[in-house]
Amino acid sequence: MSLEEIKTRIAEAERTAGRAPGAVKLIAVSKVQPLERVEAVLEQGQRIFGENRVQEAAGKWPDFKDRFDGVELHLIGPLQSNKARQAIGLFDAIHTVDRPKLARALARLAQEEGRCPGLFIQVNTGEEPQKAGVLPDDTDALVAECRALDLPLRGLMCIPPVEEEPSLHFALLAKLAARNGLDGLSMGMSGDFESAIALGATHVRVGSAIFGERSAAVPS
Ligand SMILES: *Cc1c(COP(=O)(O)O)cnc(C)c1O
Repeated sequence: MSLEEIKTRIAEAERTAGRAPGAVKLIAVSKVQPLERVEAVLEQGQRIFGENRVQEAAGKWPDFKDRFDGVELHLIGPLQSNKARQAIGLFDAIHTVDRPKLARALARLAQEEGRCPGLFIQVNTGEEPQKAGVLPDDTDALVAECRALDLPLRGLMCIPPVEEEPSLHFALLAKLAARNGLDGLSMGMSGDFESAIALGATHVRVGSAIFGERSAAVPS
């Protein structure tokens, strides 16, 4: 599917849901994609990209940022505290804040670096043991902690369990955000971004539908 087709489908989903045109930002998830595919999408005018590994992003994005104006880079994968300083320098948004220790590290480093990306808290809505994210019941406390640290908290993010109906998870995330007075909802991927938009997504993270399948050998 082409970038244009995805943008058309997003616009249609906005309309169907009674959302304002442009209410939803498309994050093109470029992890593990060959550089020429990423470059082609940049040339088509896409400027917001998502990566899930700090190291991989640090390898490919400084050069693209030199060559294309207005690139906005979002970290959508887990962040270890020892990579937090590098992440603050590289990313414009981090979607995976999921523990108080990381929030405190980001607050300290942001102070030292004089800049802080916009932050989303990742919520493990399916309460899956192997998955990152704060549990739904612990979300309010982590929001409060981020606010106490004066961090630029933009919203919540989730990755629904593969086997479950994603809408239930999107609805839960929307409820948690609303009760915490947060506007940002990072939810919806290639297979389910339209239902995420119906339930209030402000940022959809779409990879394979734009770039094609990722090589199976590489972990997502
Ligand atoms: C890889 C990834 C995506 C994109 O997934 P697709 O199914 O390829 O659209 C979205 N969000 C996160 C957190 C990812 O790791």
